Amino acid sequence: MDVKVNAGPFTLSPLPYDEKALEPVISAKTMSFHYGRHHKAYVDKLNQLVVNTRFAAMPLDEVVRASAKSSADTQIFNNAAQAWNHTFFWACLAPKGGAPSGKLKADIDRDFDSLDNFKKQFAEAGGAQFGSGWVWLIAEGTKLKIEKTGNADTPMVHGKRCILTIDVWEHAYYLDYQNRRPDFLKAVAEKLLNWDFALQNYQRAG
Ligand code: MN
Repeated sequence: MDVKVNAGPFTLSPLPYDEKALEPVISAKTMSFHYGRHHKAYVDKLNQLVVNTRFAAMPLDEVVRASAKSSADTQIFNNAAQAWNHTFFWACLAPKGGAPSGKLKADIDRDFDSLDNFKKQFAEAGGAQFGSGWVWLIAEGTKLKIEKTGNADTPMVHGKRCILTIDVWEHAYYLDYQNRRPDFLKAVAEKLLNWDFALQNYQRAG
């Protein structure tokens, strides 16, 4: 994905748009807390945790993959993966949304029957994630699939290509939607998904 992956100290990647840009679906207040507090806290905590470890010299995506291998590194994994997942998530959103094109459009139709059906299944899968986590569109081999992960877990450590995601942690929607996670997911799926970014991820080899 097109994000900075410099080795530590890790930096909070800039938001690709203004905090108000996703209104009314996601308020500036939610963005301010979600990006400026939650995402930042993962990056800050990661920087504390990697001091004097082998992880300090790795790019962020390598930290995520390497720390996933041992339960002794769970705290580093949780913060590194959340830092990566959030940067990826911001790039998955665009103020004007859009629609899939090219091979991605064809393969969405092939694997989900239609774009509308994909959006419905994507939102439903996010709603069905029990507790905190993420819902993903991933590519596994030549097939597109919807998956959900708990807490910080991310398909990129399981050999899958991440195409799109929506954060379903309560902090992603509670200020705007309270307990109505399905309404948040439906609105994001219908109005904010960045299909240009999705196509870039889909076209990238491996
Ligand atoms: Mn979040």
